[in-house]
Amino acid sequence: MSIKVDVSTFPLFINGEWVPAVSGETFDVHNPATGDVVAKVAKGNKYDVEKAVNAASAAFEQAEWRDMNPKDRSKLLYAIAHKIIANSKELIYLEAISSGGTVRRLSSSDVMQMADLFQTLGKFVLEYPFSETLPVPPFPGPAHNFVWREPIGVCAAITPWNMPMLIATWKIAPALAMGNTIVIKPASYTPLSTLKLAEIISEVVPKGVINVVTGSGNEVGEPLATHPKVDKIAFTGSTEVGRHIMSLASHTVKNTTLELGGKSPNILLEDADLNIALPGSLFGVFLHSGQLCESGTRLFVPDSLYEMVIEKLAELAGTLKLGNPLDPETDMGPVISSQQKETILSYIESGKKEGARLVCGGKEAVVEGCENGHFIEPTIFADVTNDMKIAREEIFGPVLSIIRYGELDDAIKMANDTIYGLAAGVWTKDVNKAYEVVRQLRAGVVWINDWHLLRNDAPFGGYKQSGIGREMGKYSLDAYTQLKHVHTSMVPDLHKRRWNQLLFSNLHET
Ligand code: NAD
Repeated sequence: MSIKVDVSTFPLFINGEWVPAVSGETFDVHNPATGDVVAKVAKGNKYDVEKAVNAASAAFEQAEWRDMNPKDRSKLLYAIAHKIIANSKELIYLEAISSGGTVRRLSSSDVMQMADLFQTLGKFVLEYPFSETLPVPPFPGPAHNFVWREPIGVCAAITPWNMPMLIATWKIAPALAMGNTIVIKPASYTPLSTLKLAEIISEVVPKGVINVVTGSGNEVGEPLATHPKVDKIAFTGSTEVGRHIMSLASHTVKNTTLELGGKSPNILLEDADLNIALPGSLFGVFLHSGQLCESGTRLFVPDSLYEMVIEKLAELAGTLKLGNPLDPETDMGPVISSQQKETILSYIESGKKEGARLVCGGKEAVVEGCENGHFIEPTIFADVTNDMKIAREEIFGPVLSIIRYGELDDAIKMANDTIYGLAAGVWTKDVNKAYEVVRQLRAGVVWINDWHLLRNDAPFGGYKQSGIGREMGKYSLDAYTQLKHVHTSMVPDLHKRRWNQLLFSNLHET
């Protein structure tokens, strides 16, 4: 990438303006590929949250925003999509230097998906059933009944570091499409692209509609999750923090959606086309160095293919090029931090200790020109059993666990034997058999002969402890509205209003 931007300081973005944190403090953002400090970002706390929530609340009170007609709302969403594309170089750069995502992925996937989601919702709002009329009931008397869908109010989005601007978009786009206002708290490793995105969006929405408060989970996330003026929490992150958010949000009974972790099973059937299944399975687990919630981290391989598949996967993994995410030739970038690197290495140690066979990788990697970066070799374990720690816990790094199976029923049982249910996959040439397997897998998205393919008009979210609710498509529009039943009586004659006799034994006119 040729673009170089000034990333020296980033204040908070509140009420359409850049403002320093009330504390005046900042924190450093590092490039995980080089270890360099790339920005100083305002360190928000509960006082900044107060300002941002008040701005969002005041913006929500404005009828021209809340009640904008769908045609104008649609135009606005399309305008945001155009602005994202126009600013894509800067967004990609800011994200690459903080998240370690490769420019190849960010430019050909994330930024395109972001713009497309705004366009998709821009189309959907035109058809959205903001008001539905119910049939006129014969009893207890004629009435007009409507169901109106209204915005929820002030939404708080708390997002993770792995795909920060895309995941923020999954929340911002439906929130704005339905007339809500929003305060976003990005992860402290990766706030830059979200701040830029808010600035871009603020050029077409009224002040206070979009706000960003950066800072830690404790100092910014918790005040948001407990603030009485916040009506909805949309959280993406680990299951552990998700449980905590759910309990914090319960005090003020907030509408809550959670997109959490995964340990997704990938089942190879005996008749799979290995030409696509093997690279596809590695794509499923090693994209973004394994730091994707829906990664296919457990691969179930039948006895008959077992050793051959292991050998070929190791060979393929050896072709992946680790490097600087800014280099378009790079296949795999760094993991997010030295702490995350240590966590991944400790999982690798635990795999070895529990008796799994290390087939390839297993160490940190040194990348020329990025000697202070946090790189880990693509790692494959064979002979994993489903009760090992590496098969049960989310590692969030480039580690694949291969589990052998005899009967397909056993593979399905093991696939479902997890607290998670975000994604799953099956590889076969027999589509009927595939559907039979899919029907039995407990996961929010199941791929047949593919991985990672999400659509902006399809729902995304988890079964079990992978979350509550769905993002994207019309499903996300529902998640950012609440229902109001409006009843209009068409019975003006007091004596015909027999239901009032439930209270009055003797009804007479006053
Ligand atoms: P995390 O749970 O540590 O943090 C997520 C966000 O929550 C961050 O902004 C963090 O600052 C904030 N936070 C942390 N503690 C908090 C607290 N006490 N109160 C309020 N907010 C708090 O997750 P992470 O490490 O940033 O991201 C990785 C995790 O996210 C993985 O588990 C991954 O599976 C999950 N994830 C899920 C999806 C999905 O769509 N299901 C997508 C991406 C990532």
